[in-house]
Order: sequence, then structure tokens, then C-alpha cells
Amino acid sequence: ALTAGIVGLPNVGKSTLFNAITKAGAEMANYPFATIEPNVGMVEVPDARLMRIAEIVGTNKIIPTTFEFTDIAGIVKGASQGEGLGNKFLENIRQVNAIVHVVRAFDDDNIVHVNGTVDPIDDIETINTELVLADLEAVDKRYAKVSRAAKGGDKESKAEFDVLEKIKPLLDAGKPARLAEFTAEQEKIVHGLFLLTTKPILYVANVAEDDMANPQGSKYFAQIEAYAAAEGADVIGLSARAEEEIAEMDADDQAEFLEMAGVSEPGLNLLIRAAYHLLNLRTFFTAGVKETRAWTFKAGAKAPETAGVIHSDFERGFIRAETMSFEDLDQYGSEKAVKEAGRLRSEGKEYVVQDGDIMEFLFNV
Ligand code: GDP
Repeated sequence: ALTAGIVGLPNVGKSTLFNAITKAGAEMANYPFATIEPNVGMVEVPDARLMRIAEIVGTNKIIPTTFEFTDIAGIVKGASQGEGLGNKFLENIRQVNAIVHVVRAFDDDNIVHVNGTVDPIDDIETINTELVLADLEAVDKRYAKVSRAAKGGDKESKAEFDVLEKIKPLLDAGKPARLAEFTAEQEKIVHGLFLLTTKPILYVANVAEDDMANPQGSKYFAQIEAYAAAEGADVIGLSARAEEEIAEMDADDQAEFLEMAGVSEPGLNLLIRAAYHLLNLRTFFTAGVKETRAWTFKAGAKAPETAGVIHSDFERGFIRAETMSFEDLDQYGSEKAVKEAGRLRSEGKEYVVQDGDIMEFLFNV
């Protein structure tokens, strides 16, 4: 399964955020077959469409889809030199599919800052520098080898060389490799390099509890946002401490607390949705009287592959998928009305499934 790794300097609020994730997390009773490591937090993806579908088809059993956050342990500074647990830190990042970088954006004299003062950009660069240096070492090694073979006329080496030529100047300048643009062919080569700075990233500005209703208003938020924008990355503002408290409340208290704070939903929900998208994940639904359920697929997947998310038999014996969009069901108000409007589609093997599709698979057993 794809997972988003949570990284950050010590004392920025990572554990607090991870606690919030675990507490808000999926009730493991609902997922008896899931095996979960202690550093993994499984969350349900909040999706208002599920409620609406359930209301229309008349079921009260709703099953959201889930995905995982991984808490990345290890020492950051000097990691690329392999100091202390540094290598472990980089190895742990190598295992995840996207990076959620937590940055301290709150003042609190009681909480020691590892670099002495709260400076989000300095913090971000401390970590990103280690990632860049680790990648640079890997790229330099390949570069020496591949350039010789490329000059010798080897086609594959030439293709890799062209990729390295795009990446190396960025890393030399202290920038992440994800800023380079690659063709689809080159993407495959890039994938094989197992770099750290090509992984998609999003920043979390951990603001003071007083700023939870308007994280964008915190003085540090704009700094982080400007830095992220230059990388084409997003920033989610939240207060990890507030999120941890919210996650511990029952539904009624939670609603009351959020209303008093003047926010419509926990900041954690925004983070979950942003990380889900960062991983390039999308949702389709199955809808019935027995249950209404959300399922996760990779953006761009075709119908048989998404059928396989439910059961491998569905993929193997795939015939077609009766499909309607959530928007149509929402608008027409019933499955029957969608059908009568000619909006129910019969999709085949080549259909590229869209986020929000409601599907019924027909298959041979
Ligand atoms: P980690 O080392 O990055 O995992 O950081 P922790 O989650 O352990 O947090 C370090 C300290 O900062 C703890 O004492 C937290 O309670 C505190 N902290 C985390 N988030 C906030 C916040 O939003 N506001 C304030 N004032 N303190 C926070």
C-alpha cells in the first residue's frame, strides 16, 4: 500500500500530529485483516459524498476508504554523512511514497527549538539539505559510470545520462530533483534511481492553538507558503496540539469544539485529503442497500484494475462496469432517475475510472 511519511526536525510536533492521526484513525475492529506496524497510522479518508450516496440508496452502513501515514524516525542532521541514526532516517524516507514535512510555526518559550530559534525556512532547509546531499552522492556515482558508457555509444546509458544531466545541476544548486521535467520514458529511469528528492512533498505548518481557526494568519505561514510555492508544493496549516485534543473527543464534543473554534472540520481532514492526493490516489464507490463503500485506486487506472481493488476475481473475470458519476446521482436523486436520464454508462476494459464514479462490476466466475 502507498504511504505518506511524516518527517520534521525534533520538537516541531511530529509525534503530536502522529498521535492525532492514530487517535482519529480507523477503528482496527473494522479492518481485522490489516496488519499495522507501530509507526504506521491508518486513517479513514473523510468524504462527504459517502453520506449523500447512503442517503439516496437507503443504507446506514458506510465504509470509508483508508490509507496510511508512516512516522519517520531517526536523526536528521548529518544524515547524509551517515552520522548516528542518520542513515536510518534516509532509509525510512526511501520506503515511503510521499513526504509530509512538519514545520514548527508556533512560538512557545517552554518548548526548546533544536536550532535555538523558530525559523521555518531554516528548519525546512536543514532537512532538505540532507536529502539533496544524499541524492547528490547517488547521482554523482551513477554520473561517472554512465557518462563513460554513454560516450561509448550505449543507448540505455545515454538515456540515463540525459536524465542525470537534468537532475545534477539542480542538486548541485541545493534544489530538489522533483523540479526537473521528465518525459514519460524518463520518468521510468528516474524511478529506478530511487532518489529522495523526487518524491512528492507537502508541508504542514504546525501553528499555535490560537491560530487554529486561521492558520494562514500566523506570521510563519506565509514564509512556509512562499518556500513551498517555489517548489510547486502545498502547505496545510493546523495546530497539532489542537488536533490531538480533537481526536480524543467523542462526536458531540468534537462538533461543539469545532463550532466554538469557528472551523467546519478538523485540520487533520485537510491533511488527510491533501496527502491522499499527493499519493495520486482517487476514490470510487460501490452503492447498495447492504452497504455504501469508498475504495481507493491509483489515478489513471482502468476499470478492470479498479475492480481488482475489491476482489481479484472481479479483475480476472471482468466483463463491464455499470457506471454513473456521483454528480449525476446527487443531481437526479435516485439510481432509477439516472438511468432514465440516459446517464448510466456501461464501461468496458479500456475505461479510465474517474474520481467519484459509482460502479457495479459484472464479471465471469
Ligand atoms: P517531535 O519531536 O517533532 O515529535 O515533537 P513533539 O510532538 O514531541 O512536540 C514537541 C513539543 O511541542 C511537545 O511538548 C508538544 O506538546 C509541543 N507542541 C506540539 N504542537 C504544539 C502546538 O501546536 N503548540 C504548542 N504550544 N506546543 C506544541
